[in-house]
Amino acid sequence: MSLFKPLETKLGTNANTNAGSPAEHVKCLIIGSGPAGYTAAIYAARANLKPLLCKGIQPGAQLPTTTEVENFPGYPEGITGPKMMEDLESQAARFGTDIRWGIATSVDFSGTTHKVVIDEDKVYEADTVIIATGATARYLGLQSEENYKGSGVSACATCDGFFYRNKDVAVVGGGDTACEEALYLAGMCRKVYLIVRKPFLRASKIMQKRVLNAPNIEVLFERTTKELRGNHVVEEALLIKRMGHSDESEESIKIDGFFLAIGHTPNSDIFKPFIETDETGYIKTVPGTPLTNVPGVFACGDVQDKVYRQAVTAAGSGCSAAIEAERYLAQR
Ligand code: NDP
Repeated sequence: MSLFKPLETKLGTNANTNAGSPAEHVKCLIIGSGPAGYTAAIYAARANLKPLLCKGIQPGAQLPTTTEVENFPGYPEGITGPKMMEDLESQAARFGTDIRWGIATSVDFSGTTHKVVIDEDKVYEADTVIIATGATARYLGLQSEENYKGSGVSACATCDGFFYRNKDVAVVGGGDTACEEALYLAGMCRKVYLIVRKPFLRASKIMQKRVLNAPNIEVLFERTTKELRGNHVVEEALLIKRMGHSDESEESIKIDGFFLAIGHTPNSDIFKPFIETDETGYIKTVPGTPLTNVPGVFACGDVQDKVYRQAVTAAGSGCSAAIEAERYLAQR
């Protein structure tokens, strides 16, 4: 029995699958160029699916925003995010992946051949589609946050926490991710401030309890970050306490690292007319597989994973997606 109930399939308002130049047919179209997309490409190319991979405006997904990757197995000395992506791309190209620039702007998954429009112009007809479009970490939108990206500002404690050993850091957010990141950092940092805009945490009770009981985590309720300051690197966060209330005041905390944990936005909008997502936009897959509700369309990486979100788990799911695409084509 299918996990999915049929979706009423209709084109999104931005869909224009008749756009531009004549359609090109491919066996396997991979959308996305992070660890999931490139791993899918390596496996699909080696299975002779002649994959075409579209890489968008930020090739490498979130990895290039990470300075050093030290937790991907096989790199005992670590590797920079951009270098890792270069290597993954070369490996995918080596086995014959056709790698092209382009952003998927609309899709039509209503037929047996799936249509994907790239850059609102080029139409591809694909027997199988692997969605590996990732998720984008949310930022507060401060100019100073932008200025210190990679110099004290990070959206991944698991990736970057190690650089802040025995230092003081802050995590922003009050959900499960923020609590998880705060607890992870508390294991290596001297002090962790958890900056929460409301007077309570939204995280699950068990996570709240762990955070509130951790000796080196200080939860700063009802605080809004106004600005980050520092000489080239983050040294201080300026906070507003009880913003909008009559007793509103400002304070500053000395920190070396500032971690965002205010949620991620899965890059799934263009697929929603056809592909089932959960209430937060993550693509639903049959548990433990990359199968979506549309036969021949597979999802891997962060666009379908809100729990682990690691390069290595994304790569693993990319491998599964390519294997399933190959099986699907063999059965047809
Ligand atoms: P959530 O949406 O649950 O929480 C986001 C947090 O960030 C909220 O506390 C929110 O505040 C805060 N926030 C949002 N925008 C801002 C802003 N501009 N300024 C300050 N704070 C802001 O996201 P999560 O990533 O924590 O979790 C997403 C989902 O994944 C949840 O369902 C969660 O349970 C799940 N998850 C599960 C895990 C597990 O099972 N191990 C681990 C991690 C996540 P406010 O409360 O005021 O809206």
